[in-house]
Amino acid sequence: MTAGTSDIEKAAGVLRAGGLVALPTETVYGLGANAEDPAAVARIFQVKGRPPSHPLIVHIGGAEQLDDWVEDVPATARLLAEHFWPGPLTLVLRRGSRVPLEATGGLDTVAVRVPDHPVALALLAAFAGGVTAPSANRFGQVSPTTANDVRDELGDAVDFVLDGGPCQVGVESTIVDVTGEAPSILRPGGVTREDLEAVLGFPLAVPSASHIRVPGQHPSHYAPRARVVLVEPEKVIAEAERAQELGHRVGVFVPAPFAGAPVKAHTVVAVPASMAAYARGLYGFLRELDQRGCDLIVASVPAQEGLGLAIANRLRRAAGPRSTV
Ligand code: AMP
Ligand code: MG
Repeated sequence: MTAGTSDIEKAAGVLRAGGLVALPTETVYGLGANAEDPAAVARIFQVKGRPPSHPLIVHIGGAEQLDDWVEDVPATARLLAEHFWPGPLTLVLRRGSRVPLEATGGLDTVAVRVPDHPVALALLAAFAGGVTAPSANRFGQVSPTTANDVRDELGDAVDFVLDGGPCQVGVESTIVDVTGEAPSILRPGGVTREDLEAVLGFPLAVPSASHIRVPGQHPSHYAPRARVVLVEPEKVIAEAERAQELGHRVGVFVPAPFAGAPVKAHTVVAVPASMAAYARGLYGFLRELDQRGCDLIVASVPAQEGLGLAIANRLRRAAGPRSTV
């Protein structure tokens, strides 16, 4: 059930008292704390099992608050904020003195965004401060896109869960670093590269895996329990059937052009043809296949344009080498 005014007030009180609140955003659910409370911020890392050197995003209530949190706002940042906030775009800027180093992993830069979700915006208004929040999942695992996902994932480790219904974008925000000479994409996400370039009027650097301070770019991230294997779209069905015959409990993401084909697999997910619908459903599909006991997921990456770029990035990370397997 979607949070009402009394839930918002309660959540703001929890933040003021140094507690943790899970909050809905348009991208995924976040695990939020008062951005100016180093002890509360430290608890986020503890609950997630996230290394403390990995920075968080500070969520603010409106673009007009940007200067309260950062130093030096270049014209490019203002332009992007004006066009895309509230929305799934995170800007990396020079850290303002209000932001504790705990929230930035010791960096002199800080990531900031205005989420486009009525419950998140109501919480930010009631709290009247910044809320620092990574995705509300254990480090390296699938991000939650419903309040139930958060409860399953974190249980009592979070003090209050605000329910805002299923997330409408479904993948994390696009992170753009605007501290350098030319803006660059650190992580593809809910705002497409094409939309950013249309506003900027020039091409952006293609995301690379070299930004080691962005944990979303580590080899294994966004990963379900099941192992993820990526193959060419036309080979997905054959590969799934082969693995099933070898004794795996196979979950398969059947690409849209092959929808409806009979597949011998444990669980079959028909991938939506629309990239917006695919992004919205992606983490739910991965969770579902885990819940159904699949040990192997066969999928392909979509064309890397529009939201396909973010989906391909998450699938590649989910399929990345794991330290514990
Ligand atoms: P999450 O919400 O779990 O996806 O984590 C927040 C994302 O923002 C991570 O990928 C962070 O590394 C990234 N981030 C936060 N602050 C910075 C920063 N100052 N520089 C680069 N990336 C950042
Ligand atoms: Mg995350």
